[in-house]
Amino acid sequence: MPELPEVETVVRGLRQTVVGDVIEDVWLSGRKQPLKSSPQEIASVLTGARIVGVRRMGKHIVIDLEVGARSPSSANKKGTPNRAIARSCSKSQITNRKSQIAGGSPDHQIARSPDPQFIVHLGMTGRLLLVPPDAPLAKHTHLVARLKSGKELRFVDPRMFGKLAVVRQPFETAGTEPLDIGFELFSGLFRKRKTPIKSALLNQNLLRGIGNIYADESLARAAIRPRRRAARLTRADLHRLYQSVQQVLNDAIAAGGSSVSDYVDSAGEPGFFQFQHRVYGREGEPCLTCGKPIKRVVIAGRSSHYCPKCQK
Ligand SMILES: [Zn+2]
Repeated sequence: MPELPEVETVVRGLRQTVVGDVIEDVWLSGRKQPLKSSPQEIASVLTGARIVGVRRMGKHIVIDLEVGARSPSSANKKGTPNRAIARSCSKSQITNRKSQIAGGSPDHQIARSPDPQFIVHLGMTGRLLLVPPDAPLAKHTHLVARLKSGKELRFVDPRMFGKLAVVRQPFETAGTEPLDIGFELFSGLFRKRKTPIKSALLNQNLLRGIGNIYADESLARAAIRPRRRAARLTRADLHRLYQSVQQVLNDAIAAGGSSVSDYVDSAGEPGFFQFQHRVYGREGEPCLTCGKPIKRVVIAGRSSHYCPKCQK
């Protein structure tokens, strides 16, 4: 399942390639499972929208859109967005503007709804790919957004745990970004938590974006057993864990993520961090430090891998 480093890799790839482009039209497969907004709403919001940013929030990809570049003639990069917005102003917005003027409000602020965002969650097997239009349509393609540049943004998801939505309010999710948090806040998250530290690391309400791979790899580097109660960790343990989380996530981003099942980035390329895994997926193989076989246990329904000698 794509975690923070894989999603960040997709986001960085798309940021370099689609920002400034305009979505000319949208095709949806008709499968309802990945859609968290109605197909009509997704199509109507995306069609004609300009992509102004791509960012990550936890495991979500947030594509910031600017609507108002509706007609092809206005949909060029050097266009005049203000005129485009004025042209696509709905009747209600114009009425609203008139009433503002009548009410004595300054009219330089035309009331319009906030710019929407297209939210993509890759789930287990989702891929968000930027491909040339003649690329064969992969099985399990659920969305194709044709861009003005000629390229196509496609969402492919065989297992359909991924999600697609459009939102009109600034998108927010629970939890804190593990790469932005300071040590005091980080250690505070685990105080009084009686759950195993492994479960606490997976809890998206605490830190967002860490899944099974990076929880196991962080605990291995911090020399902490996954079953240890979070509240029982010492300040020194937490400090090592804090540094390990940051190191593992940054190293994994630098390696383009881990391709353990079928993860690929937006250009269809795999990541390479799986070659730096010390414990994840290495059950029975020798620990890279001490040579003892790596153990696998199940904690709260999830596989956990650790070295019984190096991790305490
Ligand atoms: Zn070991």
